[in-house]
Amino acid sequence: MTSLLQTLSCADDYDPNSLPVERARELILGLIGAVGGHERIFVRQALDRVLAEDVISPIDVPSHDNSAMDGWALRSCDLAAAGETRLKSIGTAFAGKAFEGGVGAGETVRIMTGAILPQGVDCVAIQEIVRVEGETVVIPPGQRAEQNTRRAGEDLKAGRPAIAAGKKLRPAEIGIIASLGIAEVSVRRRVRVALFSTGDELCSLGTPLVPGAVYDSNRYTLWGMLTRLGCEVIDMGVVRDDPAALEAAFGEAAGCADAIITSGGVSVGEADFIRQLMAQLGEVAFWKIAMKPGRPMAFGRINKTHDASVAHPGAWLFGLPGNPVAVMVTFYQFVRPAILKLAGVDPVTAFPVFPARCVEAIRKSRGRTEYQRGILFEDKGEWCVRPTGAQGSGVLRSMSEADCFIVLEPERGNVGAGDSVNVQAMNGLV
Ligand code: AMP
Ligand code: MG
Repeated sequence: MTSLLQTLSCADDYDPNSLPVERARELILGLIGAVGGHERIFVRQALDRVLAEDVISPIDVPSHDNSAMDGWALRSCDLAAAGETRLKSIGTAFAGKAFEGGVGAGETVRIMTGAILPQGVDCVAIQEIVRVEGETVVIPPGQRAEQNTRRAGEDLKAGRPAIAAGKKLRPAEIGIIASLGIAEVSVRRRVRVALFSTGDELCSLGTPLVPGAVYDSNRYTLWGMLTRLGCEVIDMGVVRDDPAALEAAFGEAAGCADAIITSGGVSVGEADFIRQLMAQLGEVAFWKIAMKPGRPMAFGRINKTHDASVAHPGAWLFGLPGNPVAVMVTFYQFVRPAILKLAGVDPVTAFPVFPARCVEAIRKSRGRTEYQRGILFEDKGEWCVRPTGAQGSGVLRSMSEADCFIVLEPERGNVGAGDSVNVQAMNGLV
C-alpha cells in the first residue's frame, strides 16, 4: 500500500499540529475500507448486523391487490354522479378467504382488511359511512376510485432490491426480510477490535487503590461503546508504560484484530516512548486535533506482528487520549464512523445535529471545536439545552448525565444565555 503517512501529508491543508475535526474524520474515512468476510445467518440473528448483499425481493409485497379497510368493495364506475349510490350485496371477502367470482354492474361485496379485491373492484367504501337496508347497500357521495385499496407490489416489487447491501439491519429490515419469506441473509463478519489501556497509575478492578492510582475505566467505556457497535472486542487489559510490554501488546493486537484502540500515552511529553514505539511498529500520524476535549490522538496502522510466521495485514490504530471524557468524545467523533466503515455500513452517517437554545452562558476560546456535554429539553415548543455542570475532561459524570453534545464550532467565541447553538443528539444512539 502507498505509504499512509505520504497519503496523509499530501493533503493540501494537512497540518498535524492543528487538524480540524471534520478534516481528521475525512482523512480517516478516506483511508479505511470495509473488512472482508461474509456469513449466512438466520434472520433473527441478523439484528444489528450489516447486510453483505442486496436482498432481492422474490415476490410482490403485497402479492395481490387488497383492501386497506373493512367496508364494501365496489366499481367506481357504478358511483352516482351526485347523491347516494345503491348497490346489491352479493357476498363477503375475508383476508385469507377470497370472494370467488367477480363484481358486476350495480353489485358490491362486503370486504375485510387484507382481503383480495374481487375482479372488477377498484374502490372500497369504509363500513362506518355505509347504510345497509336488507340486501341493498347505500353508499354516500364523495367516494373515489382506488380509495382504501392496496396494490400488489406497492411495498416491494418482485426482482428489485428490497434492502441494499451496507444497511445495518434494524427491526424494520428484519420485518421486511420476513415479509419476503426469506429465512437467511448474508451479513458481513463482525469487526474485531483489540483494546488496551496504558499507564503505570492504572489499577484493575478488585485491587485496592494505592495513593496516586486510578481505576482503569477507559477499557470499560470503550468495551461498552464497541459492543454497542456490534464489534468483537479483544480486551487485552492494562499495559504498563514499558517499551517491551507495549511492543508485545501491539504485536499481539495487530496479529488478530482489524483495529487497535489504546488510551493514554499519546500526549507530548508524557511517556514519549509510546509515541516512538507506535511509529516504529507501523505508520502512525500524531495529530493535535483542534478540539476540546481530545486534542492529542494517534491514527495509523500497526503493520508488524511479533511472530513473523503469522501473515496478517496489520491493524488500524486509534491511540486515544487518556482522559475519560476525551476518550468518549474522540471515540464518537472519529472511531465510531471508522468502525462503521470497517463494518461495511454504507452510507456512514453521523449523529443528527440541530440547533437548540442554550439556556446558560458558556466560555469558549476561538480556534477549536468544543464538545460540551448537554441535556436537551423542550420549552414552549422549542428545543433547549443546558450544559451538564463541570466540564473537565476527567469528569465522566458529565457524559453520564448528557444526552447530547453541545458543538461549539471553531469560529465561535463565548456563548450567551439564550443564544442558539448546534447540538448533536446521542440519546438512544450510543
Ligand atoms: P495520559 O493521556 O496517559 O497522560 O492520561 C491523561 C489522564 O487520564 C491521566 O489523569 C490518567 O490518569 C487518566 N487516564 C489514563 N488512562 C486511564 C484509564 N484507562 N482509565 C481512567 N483514567 C485514565
Ligand atoms: Mg499515561
